[in-house]
Amino acid sequence: VRMSAAQIRQAFLDFFAARGHTIVPSSSLVPVGDPTLLFTNAGMNQFKNVFLGLETRPYKRAASVQKCMRVSGKHNDLENVGPSPRHHTFFEMLGNFSFGDYFKREAIHYAFECLTQVYGLDPERLVFTVHQEDDEAYRVWVEEIGAPRERVFRMGDKTNFWMMGDTGPCGPTSEIHYDWGPEHCTCGDPNCSVALDNGCDRWLELWNLVFMQFDQKADGTRVPLPRPGVDTGMGLERLAAVLQGVFSNYETDLFVPIIERTREIRGHTRAEMEANMVAYRVIADHTRAAAFLIADGVLPGNVGRGYVLRMIIRRAARFGRKIGFEEPFMARVAEAVIEIMGTHYRELVDRREHIFRTLTQEEERFLRTLDLGLSRLEEVLQELATRGARVVPGEEAFRLYDSYGLPLEITRDVARERGFAVDELGFQQAMAQQRERARATERFELDTEQLARYRRLLASLQDKGLVGDQGVEYDPYS
Ligand code: ATP
Ligand code: MG
Ligand code: MG
Ligand code: MG
Repeated sequence: VRMSAAQIRQAFLDFFAARGHTIVPSSSLVPVGDPTLLFTNAGMNQFKNVFLGLETRPYKRAASVQKCMRVSGKHNDLENVGPSPRHHTFFEMLGNFSFGDYFKREAIHYAFECLTQVYGLDPERLVFTVHQEDDEAYRVWVEEIGAPRERVFRMGDKTNFWMMGDTGPCGPTSEIHYDWGPEHCTCGDPNCSVALDNGCDRWLELWNLVFMQFDQKADGTRVPLPRPGVDTGMGLERLAAVLQGVFSNYETDLFVPIIERTREIRGHTRAEMEANMVAYRVIADHTRAAAFLIADGVLPGNVGRGYVLRMIIRRAARFGRKIGFEEPFMARVAEAVIEIMGTHYRELVDRREHIFRTLTQEEERFLRTLDLGLSRLEEVLQELATRGARVVPGEEAFRLYDSYGLPLEITRDVARERGFAVDELGFQQAMAQQRERARATERFELDTEQLARYRRLLASLQDKGLVGDQGVEYDPYS
C-alpha cells in the first residue's frame, strides 16, 4: 500500500505516542527568543533549553513534525534546491526526543522498528553510519539489530557530529540511509558504498539520530550536558519519496499538485515542463516556503528574515520569468500549497488572503525592475566575455541589487547558468561600504533635526525655570 504524506506524518506520531512520547505541535519558523538563529532549522530547536537543562517540561519524551527552513547560517541548502531531488528550503522534520530519559540503545531500536514495521521498509535496503569513536552505537546496530558489518560505517565529524549552530547542544550521530541501488550511482566509484558523504545519489540520508551530549560554547569548548538525551530528525519529503516509490521528492504527493498547478497556469505540456524541471522545482519549493514564512508573520524586507523571504520570492519570480510567466503567478501556485498542506497547518488557511496579497505585491514590485536588471546583467556578462574574464565584480553585483533589486542569489544563478562566477566577498564589501555611507548621512540628518528639537525643549524648560546648574531639575515623582 502506498502511504500518503498525511498518513506518514500520522503514523510517525502514533508510533511514538504509543511509546510514551508526548506529541508536541510544530513551533513557528521564526524562533522565539533565540537570537543565534534566523529560522527554525530542526525539530530540536524548540527544545534547546530543555537539552541545556535550563528549562523543564512535564514530559521526558516528545515527538513532533516540525516546520524547518534551511536557507541561512550553518545549514544552508539554497544552492541545492532545484538541482537536488532531495533538498528543500522549507521541509518538515519528523522527530522523537528524549530529555535525560532513554539514550542510544532505545533510539536506535525505535528508529529501526519504525522504518521496518510501521513503514515496511526492507532492512536490506538500509545502511547505517555511526561516529567513528562511537563503539556503543556500532555494537547496538551490529549485535542487537543484526545489521551486517559491511553496512555499518564509521564516519568522521563532518557527517556524524551534529550541531544546530555555532553554539548550543550537539553530539555524535548515527544515520540511516536508504540504498536506491547501484543503478542510481552518480559518483562513478566502483566501491561507492563507502562514499556516503560524497553526494552520490545512490544513498539517501533518511534519518539522523543525534545523541545530545555536549553544549558547545562560543569559545569552542564542549561542556557535557547535565543529562544526555536524544534528538532525531527525518525528512518527511524523503520518506514519502521512498514509500511512494519515486526517486525525487518532487514526485511525491507533497509536490506533484503544486507542480501540476504551475504547469496548468503556465499552459505547458508535460514535455515542456520536463524540459524546465529545475525552474519548476524552484518555483514549487520557494512558493511553499514563502507561504509558510508569511503565515508565520515574516514580511518581505531588506534585512534578516525579511530579506530571505524577499530573496526566495524574487528567485522564484525570476525562474517564472525564465519559463515565460509575464505576470505575478505565485498566489495561484500558493493556492495548491494551501490545498495540500492546509489540513495539517491551519495557519495557511487562516492567513490565506494575506499570503496571496504579500506574494503578489512582492512580485509586482520586483517585475518593475527585473527586466532592466537582467539586461544590465547581460551587458556585464558580455563585456566580461569579450575580455575573457569569468568573474562578475562585487561592485557590479551590488549595483544590480541596489538599483534593480536583484538579490545576490539571483545574480549568482544567472551568472552560473552562463558559466560565470560572482565575487561574493566583493559584493559584501560594497554592501558594507554603502551601509557605512548611509549611516553617516543618517547621523547628519538626525543631528540637524534632533538638535532643533532639543533646542526648543531646552528653551521651554528654561522658560519654566526647570533648568539649573546640574541640568534638568524637574523630578517627575515629586
Ligand atoms: P543532508 O546530508 O542530506 O544535507 P543533513 O545531514 O544536513 O542532510 P540533518 O541535519 O541530519 O540533515 O537533518 C535531519 C534530516 O532532515 C535528514 O536526515 C534529512 O532526512 C532531512 N533534511 C535535511 N536537510 C533537508 C533539506 N534541505 N530538505 C529536505 N530534507 C532535509
Ligand atoms: Mg545538509
Ligand atoms: Mg548529512
Ligand atoms: Mg544528517
